[in-house]
Amino acid sequence: MNKTEILGRWTKEKSEELYGIKNWGSTYFSISDEGEVLVNPYSDKKSAVSLMDIVSGVKDRGLDMPVLLRFENLLDSQITYLNESFAKAMKSLDYKGTYRGVYPIKVNQQQQVVEEVTKFGQKYHHGLEVGSKPELIAALSHIKDKESCLICNGYKDEEFIDLGLYATKMGFNCFFVIEMPNELDIILERSKILNIKPNIGVRIKLSAKAGGHWTDSGGDRSIFGLNMSQIIEIVDELKEKGMLDSLKLLHYHLGSQIPNIRDIRNAVLEAARVYAELVNEGAAMGYLDLGGGLAIDYDGSSTNYTNSRNYTVEEYCMDVVEAVMRVMDQRDTPHPVIITESGRALVAYYSILLFNVLDVAIFEEYEIPEKLDESLPEQIRNLYEVNKSINHKNIQECYNDALYYRDEIKDMFKHGRISLRDRSFSEKIFWNTIHQIAKAKKKLKFAPPELEDIESAIADIYYCNFSVFQSIPDSWAIDQLFPVMPIHRLLELPKRNAVIADITCDCDGKIDRFIDLHDERSTLPLHELKKEEYYLGIFLVGAYQETLGDLHNLFGDTNVISVRINKDGSFELIKEIQGDSVEDVLSYVEFDVKQMRANFRETAEEAIREGLMTPSDRKEIMLSFDNGLRGYTYYER
Ligand SMILES: *Cc1c(COP(=O)(O)O)cnc(C)c1O
Repeated sequence: MNKTEILGRWTKEKSEELYGIKNWGSTYFSISDEGEVLVNPYSDKKSAVSLMDIVSGVKDRGLDMPVLLRFENLLDSQITYLNESFAKAMKSLDYKGTYRGVYPIKVNQQQQVVEEVTKFGQKYHHGLEVGSKPELIAALSHIKDKESCLICNGYKDEEFIDLGLYATKMGFNCFFVIEMPNELDIILERSKILNIKPNIGVRIKLSAKAGGHWTDSGGDRSIFGLNMSQIIEIVDELKEKGMLDSLKLLHYHLGSQIPNIRDIRNAVLEAARVYAELVNEGAAMGYLDLGGGLAIDYDGSSTNYTNSRNYTVEEYCMDVVEAVMRVMDQRDTPHPVIITESGRALVAYYSILLFNVLDVAIFEEYEIPEKLDESLPEQIRNLYEVNKSINHKNIQECYNDALYYRDEIKDMFKHGRISLRDRSFSEKIFWNTIHQIAKAKKKLKFAPPELEDIESAIADIYYCNFSVFQSIPDSWAIDQLFPVMPIHRLLELPKRNAVIADITCDCDGKIDRFIDLHDERSTLPLHELKKEEYYLGIFLVGAYQETLGDLHNLFGDTNVISVRINKDGSFELIKEIQGDSVEDVLSYVEFDVKQMRANFRETAEEAIREGLMTPSDRKEIMLSFDNGLRGYTYYER
């Protein structure tokens, strides 16, 4: 750190680079001249809104952190972007078919999201994809546009099929996608009984496989979909029944967040070939559904790393359209309507989780004396010697020795051979040693691999008011990285290196891997805590995080606020959904709150009988019990 930085010459450009916001933020997030994070759904600067202004709006309304903000404009923009990119690709390649997107409800099932997708999607006839009966019911209660597609995947029972058939009768473009060979019979049976002709699709297993987290959906061994011989059986059965004109769609889903465009292209080529063959077999066809997989660049590196992607949305569209066209033109097959089921790409930007920092633990460098008391135990003196001998050539050795002596000292303490005071002194020497080693490591070109994580061992722990398990379950479950950064003070040098701990006090309730342009980092630079609140944001959390979250330690849903940004830069908080109260989450795990209250009142009454308190004390105590029940599950200031 040089002097000019200490003097406050830290700039917003430095913050932009440090937190990578220009790389992962698309055109939507940036830093203002005041050092605050801006949200900007339109490309013009005028409409940008500072997250800090929204925080004060939220506070004025009496809502506490943590809060999940949903920006409807960002959803609108992403729908527009995807549809316009396909339109542009089709126009430039002279593709004869059209594009129809469908939003898979499972990616974010909140009513508001489904509502907004159908509303903003209408101008592009953007439809919905459902994978279960409840999702179909949700879709049918929101979809109005009969030119959009309604794709039914997943296991389908009689009720599911009947509902889909009625939707078809009402004029919706509803497709049953057969994932298991036995489904065809029941679909045909119900359609005969209800006298409604079904639109049928088949889901194939491709041999193409993709890299990334979620790749098990693709490949020969994938759980879902039909292999080629099963598809031929279906064709034969339909042919026999004179119903090949019902077979209209071919679908596959390779998996989500596919980082490499080559994998996407290979899959499209393979599926397009199967499609052309089905046309050849006499099936009506007309629709080629490429599933999801369009990835988000969470770390901003534009690489084929799992948290990134090595292509843009425009490149994705061009590649897909070009590949489909190439296969169709070889066979003189008419260009199909291309469907994609992009979920993540539509909603990831949409939501931001904001929270405050409650406290910080600092692992100090501790001063140690110039000379050691000769009467101290040998192990402590050995540890001290290690400390004094550190140079840049022996840090690996010193590190091993320091750990060795620390463990010996712990052991001696266990057996009563050193005092608490001596042990405490030895810990100071130990932490000083680790700090010295970390400093020496910085000067090395190639650091020993064992010392890779030494920075996180001495990093501060910032205790933050949210739950990883509730709000970013994929961070815990599959090690997904999300961009995390302060939303203000970005003209100030962030002097601390931190890891983040949530308030579950669970050792898994933490974030200790952060995005980095070239790799990952184990600590996040943050500002020192001052008197005023310090706010952090976790970005790109709109996809898959909301309904996977669990009630670990009974932390419930956070407050949710929907924001609409107007073109003139003003904003409205159009909808507030209060997070779970303590009472809510207790009832989710089947506590009977009335009974609990009665029990507690009884306990208090007993305390009166024992003379420990007065009846008016009981009144106060019951009041605070009730306040607790009604309160937010998170830390309230
Ligand atoms: C989950 C899923 C999707 C969504 O994939 P994204 O990568 O989020 O776009 C699409 N189709 C099917 C069948 C799915 O299971």
